Amino acid sequence: MSNLNFDTNAMGSKSVQYLIDSDPEIFGFLSDELIRQRKTLQLIASENFTSPAVLAMSGSILTNKYAEGYPKKRYYGGNRFVDEIEDIARNRATELFGAEHANVQPHSGASANLAVYQALLEPGDTILAMRLDQGGHLTHGAPASVTGKMYNFQQYGLTPRSKEGGERIDFDFLKQLATTHRPKLIVAGATAYPREIDPLPFKEIADEVGAFLMFDSAHPMGLIAAKVHPSPVELADVVTFTTHKTLRGPRGGAILCKEQFAKKIDSAVFPGLQGGPLEHIIGAKAVAFKEAQSDNFGRYGKQIKVNAAKLGETLVKEGFRLVSNGTDNHLILVDLRDFDPELDGKVAQEVLDSVGITCNRNQIPDDPRKPLITSGLRLGTAAMTTAGMKSDQMELVGNLIANTLKNRSNESELKSIKDQVLELCSKYDPYPDGNEWPGLSNFSN
Ligand SMILES: *Cc1c(COP(=O)(O)O)cnc(C)c1O
Repeated sequence: MSNLNFDTNAMGSKSVQYLIDSDPEIFGFLSDELIRQRKTLQLIASENFTSPAVLAMSGSILTNKYAEGYPKKRYYGGNRFVDEIEDIARNRATELFGAEHANVQPHSGASANLAVYQALLEPGDTILAMRLDQGGHLTHGAPASVTGKMYNFQQYGLTPRSKEGGERIDFDFLKQLATTHRPKLIVAGATAYPREIDPLPFKEIADEVGAFLMFDSAHPMGLIAAKVHPSPVELADVVTFTTHKTLRGPRGGAILCKEQFAKKIDSAVFPGLQGGPLEHIIGAKAVAFKEAQSDNFGRYGKQIKVNAAKLGETLVKEGFRLVSNGTDNHLILVDLRDFDPELDGKVAQEVLDSVGITCNRNQIPDDPRKPLITSGLRLGTAAMTTAGMKSDQMELVGNLIANTLKNRSNESELKSIKDQVLELCSKYDPYPDGNEWPGLSNFSN
């Protein structure tokens, strides 16, 4: 059995032994997954490698505790220490982002968004948000999501590709929609948009039509913490985010808001949507917020952007077109059609997976192919940057991606690429045995 390098909780390193003995089947797959994360390249824009400290907290005995309610207002006894931990998590979140109030209980980004809708709106109310196929999220009113069924969504998108500086948020259209439909809420934020999102034009339009403004910063929250992306906290009434994407914490969600909405938001999360909070995850969120306050994390955020720019530049040299012709955050949306009109996102994702390059297919704006096929790939640099990769490695990764896709029917070439991927990963191991965690060592001064 492989030597797992995380051992936490009540029984120390013995816990892993308990797992091995009591459930070898599950342990086997956990062990395989650790090897997969270490030996293949992780380019999924919404993923990251969280720190051993965050892993220790998420795997801790706090999972045993019921704590319905909020600090000092719980429905169960025995919450003295849990209250301290949740209070620290809330305080660190408000300090880190300069917010008036924080709720750290949402189980995920989707739950955080639902809670905001529940707090500020009635079913049937009108919301403006970005279209899924232009970069928005499912919870921004997709018909398949409960949000699309419960509220009246009107959706904006991007300016056309043909326009100079195109494929950016179309604020003229957004303003027109807002004036026509008088929404109660405007949602800013996206899941596949390679550019900074300026909160100011959203705020101006929201004020003009008397709408609330929610900024969903699930993706860029780590960049915001690192102060390399504009912060929406001052301007938006409510900011939702995930803690596991660029922010590099445990899997989960959180909400920041102005004091005037604090009570409504809190009661929408509990008892509105959720029962007992995941206090082990809340503890891990507190640990991640502390990490994100450090200078170390500021350097990490800068490097994520440098790496994305370099990867994008390399792909352009290799003949790919990038949506919006570039990136200024952690992610890149590749339009595969110029590189090879025959190649779709599904085939590209699968062949890349076969050589150990993990990413996801993604619709590009006005994609002629179906959502399960697509003409695009979404790539992100947050995880590779945690593992310590810099510009030179990004160039290599870009070349490997292009070579894989060019040689997708050439078995021997694919085999050689797979070896090169493995070699690269062995030099940039996110959880090296017996060494300092690279997320710290690579970004200390
Ligand atoms: C990832 C994401 C979410 C949802 O987060 P989950 O934790 O997966 O529920 C919501 N909004 C946006 C913009 C996202 O990118």
